[in-house]
Amino acid sequence: MKFSSFGRRYSRHSGISQLMEDLGHAMAGGKKLLMLGGGNPAHIPEVQAFIQERLQRMAENPAELAHVIGNYDPPKGESQFIDALAALFREQYGWDIGPGNIALTAGSQSAFFLLFNMFAGDFDDGGRKQILFPLAPEYIGYSDVALSDNCFTANKPEIETFPDRTFKYHVDFDSLSISKDVGAMCVSRPTNPTGNVLSDEEMYKLAARARNFDIPFIVDNAYGMPFPNIIFTEASLFWDENIILCMSLSKVGLPGARTGIVIANETVVDAIARMNAVFSLALGSLGPALGYDLVQSGEILRLSNNVIRPYYERKAKFAVENFKAELEGVDYYMHKAEGALFLWLWFPGLPVTSEELYQRLKQRGVLILSGHYFFPGLEEEWVHKHECIRVSYAMPDEVVRAGIRIITEEVKKAFE
Ligand code: PLP
Repeated sequence: MKFSSFGRRYSRHSGISQLMEDLGHAMAGGKKLLMLGGGNPAHIPEVQAFIQERLQRMAENPAELAHVIGNYDPPKGESQFIDALAALFREQYGWDIGPGNIALTAGSQSAFFLLFNMFAGDFDDGGRKQILFPLAPEYIGYSDVALSDNCFTANKPEIETFPDRTFKYHVDFDSLSISKDVGAMCVSRPTNPTGNVLSDEEMYKLAARARNFDIPFIVDNAYGMPFPNIIFTEASLFWDENIILCMSLSKVGLPGARTGIVIANETVVDAIARMNAVFSLALGSLGPALGYDLVQSGEILRLSNNVIRPYYERKAKFAVENFKAELEGVDYYMHKAEGALFLWLWFPGLPVTSEELYQRLKQRGVLILSGHYFFPGLEEEWVHKHECIRVSYAMPDEVVRAGIRIITEEVKKAFE
């Protein structure tokens, strides 16, 4: 059997495939592993109670059940949910948007596949374009979605360190150049893997640059506001016709529902809808059905603001305090924990690579992610790429505490 280039490209070993295999096995509960690696959201009882109650009601209503599981939705996504989302964004932010500005996707990961290949790669005029990540490190899930090689480029960050061993990445606007080969720009905010929340000023500046160069600005809002709102700092959200805002129900607690949301101008939304039809005919209906209830009832905002955000904020503090106590005497920096589910640790001068550290930790039953996966588009050698790790704090406290203890032991051993 011989695979085509496409077959080889998408079946080869990649950071995201390793991550999802590790994650899937750990969550399936086979081997006893401390899973601090993946982006699985926590199972928050209040969120799960809402979903459970809703599913029960649905199961008891034959007409509704038949509608949800027995019909194909339009390729743009289920209309009631889209209407409710448009109303929510109009009310919350005063944006001039309607249902024509929203398309759903099978999880936001698939939105990135569509969008990146829509704006980068080969063009009909013979040209080639790339996606620019203005602030590396960036999300591992972007790395392997392009249909051809060399589709990404990235800009190194400015690093600000603080006396309490924290640090923060900033966009280095002086070195950020947008050539004619750039087809779109993309940031995740809050950023996976670092927990960084780009400032409003950085976002305005990036949006303005994108507009000036007539390229779209893709904003990955998977952890952002108004849902799941896993943001611990002051930040605001804005949108205009040049911004493609990608959201998801996953981090609200529904990764199994595979529901992504793209908010964009109508040209982009129509294109996504047609591509959905080609790749999947239609999207799953369960996520939109649950999403509609969450949005329509206002529960999505209440849960995000009163349950989900405080839940992760406490978890972040817990993980930071544990690392601070355990890492006493080690030369390390921890990125400011401003949002998402992760801590990003930097060990300057780490004598082994972060990948080797990952392997050693896996041997000891702790899964983290090696930092080197999080630099899509940054081809140049940079030792920093191999000195960082990403640690999720979404798991129960005892798992996080035990994992942090073993991580610290291995880091100390590496420095001996
Ligand atoms: N974007 C970011 C920054 C993420 O961390 C994730 C998942 O971890 C995704 C997008 C994809 O999420 P989903 O496909 O579940 O919507």
